[in-house]
Amino acid sequence: MLLYIHIPFCHKICPYCSFYKHQPSAQAQMLAFVDALLIEFDRRVEQHGLNVADFETLYFGGGTPSLLSAKAITTLMEGFAERLDFAQLGEISIETNPRTFDAAKAQLFADLGFGRASLGIQSFHAKELAFLGRDHSADEAKQAASYLQAAGLKTNLDLIFGLPNQSLASWESSLEQMTELNPTSISCYHLTYEQNTPFYEPRQKGLLRSNEILDEGFFSMADSYLTSLGYDHYETSNYAKPGCESIHNKGYWEGKDYLGLGPSAVSTINEGDGFVRYENVSSTDAYIAQAESRDFTPTKEVLGRKDWEIERIALMLRTNTGIAKQHLGQVNRQAIQDIIDQGYAYWRSDEQGSENLSLKGQGKLLVDGIVEHLMR
Ligand code: SF4
Repeated sequence: MLLYIHIPFCHKICPYCSFYKHQPSAQAQMLAFVDALLIEFDRRVEQHGLNVADFETLYFGGGTPSLLSAKAITTLMEGFAERLDFAQLGEISIETNPRTFDAAKAQLFADLGFGRASLGIQSFHAKELAFLGRDHSADEAKQAASYLQAAGLKTNLDLIFGLPNQSLASWESSLEQMTELNPTSISCYHLTYEQNTPFYEPRQKGLLRSNEILDEGFFSMADSYLTSLGYDHYETSNYAKPGCESIHNKGYWEGKDYLGLGPSAVSTINEGDGFVRYENVSSTDAYIAQAESRDFTPTKEVLGRKDWEIERIALMLRTNTGIAKQHLGQVNRQAIQDIIDQGYAYWRSDEQGSENLSLKGQGKLLVDGIVEHLMR
């Protein structure tokens, strides 16, 4: 069982971001919010009959968890330390952004029990950072990475490719500047245009264009450059030094149950007779009000076996492990052969001798279209 905590606060809103987030209205809202999270944890553990010893990871995402004040993050982590045995967790991770913490706060993260931090950098070029609505410079991002590393945290750095007007030269320079920081893991995300974001309308009007050939070049460049430096390409968007993969994220891709707390957070729990998906209200004020009345009302959807298996195929195909043959019962044989014939996938044997369908080369970049083809 994985534990995800959604912190909805950001100091500035990026126009490409589709997550539920907003600027905090006041310090008091942050403090009421962290109290609400602890109340929700107790309530949901009881409601679902969970055993706290079954939690394997604790992950703070968002939003920007590093924006929480020292008092708020301390209250929250002390609250979880009373409820969970941190020594038994495989990973305690926090998402961070430059300009939301300094050296002292990074040390506080480590002192409170975090062992891994993910830092959103996105680009090392001023024009690209401005386009993405980021409010930090490349130098501030480098400084922030050094604070996390000095505090002893495993550090994941995020970059984005596929921006309009981005060149292969600027992408190469961002990759080089990132690896000079010597992160333990790296995420390279392709810019997408989600419906509920400010970028969506200009994209629909043709004002924000992408170039498929260049996108392939960005992806291949990251793949060959990072793997040549010893980073394993362990998921479509993720690279890590051996032993530094995100345990929490791997858990999602492997189809483990997860409990999500906070506004908009999603949970998927195997309740014996099937998988149930819960989704919390997407409003921080409504969420705090629910906590005050001890009455959380996430929406509930029972997933059919077939839907769950399709999700599992889609997630596992994104990993370097691939998906085991026995889980491909729902998939048309010819569709599998098509992607093998086109050079996008192959059968690989794992250590247990079972055969897994794995993507290779351009297949890794085309994963979403490939999953659609397999599920037709
Ligand atoms: S990308 Fe990160 S910092 Fe930007 S709005 Fe989204 S959650 Fe906040």
